[in-house]
Amino acid sequence: MAYDNENIFAKILRGEISCDKVYENDHALAFKDINPQAPVHILVIPKGPYVSYADFGQQASDAELAGFMRAVGEVAKQLGVTERGSRILSNQGEDGHQEVPHFHVHLFGGKDLGRMIKPIDK
Ligand code: 5GP
Repeated sequence: MAYDNENIFAKILRGEISCDKVYENDHALAFKDINPQAPVHILVIPKGPYVSYADFGQQASDAELAGFMRAVGEVAKQLGVTERGSRILSNQGEDGHQEVPHFHVHLFGGKDLGRMIKPIDK
């Protein structure tokens, strides 16, 4: 899938749409999700044009990979969610119900998040 420069996170990165920023470094930006699913719900995105985690994992430079994961860790620390626990999640493609085609990790915390996923029907 080709990267779409008009996706909403590309517009946030270009400053065309505002966001509630919580952290930024050379390679990543973190901001509050507009429709939070938990008391803490942050989106961490790379600054480069990557569609998904798979795209990012294959195409990004070592510096981008490191900068991105550093951002995830810094945000979790800054928001104080590691003591009680938290979760990161990245949706990809149709089955994963990815809505925005710019790679992002959701960071959830601030409550008991329950089990990861519903068990499959047998
Ligand atoms: P996905 O389903 O692609 O993993 O999640 C996309 C997320 O982006 C959703 O949780 C949605 O609430 C969030 N989102 C969509 N548009 C905006 C926006 O303009 N600003 C912010 N901060 N979050 C957005």
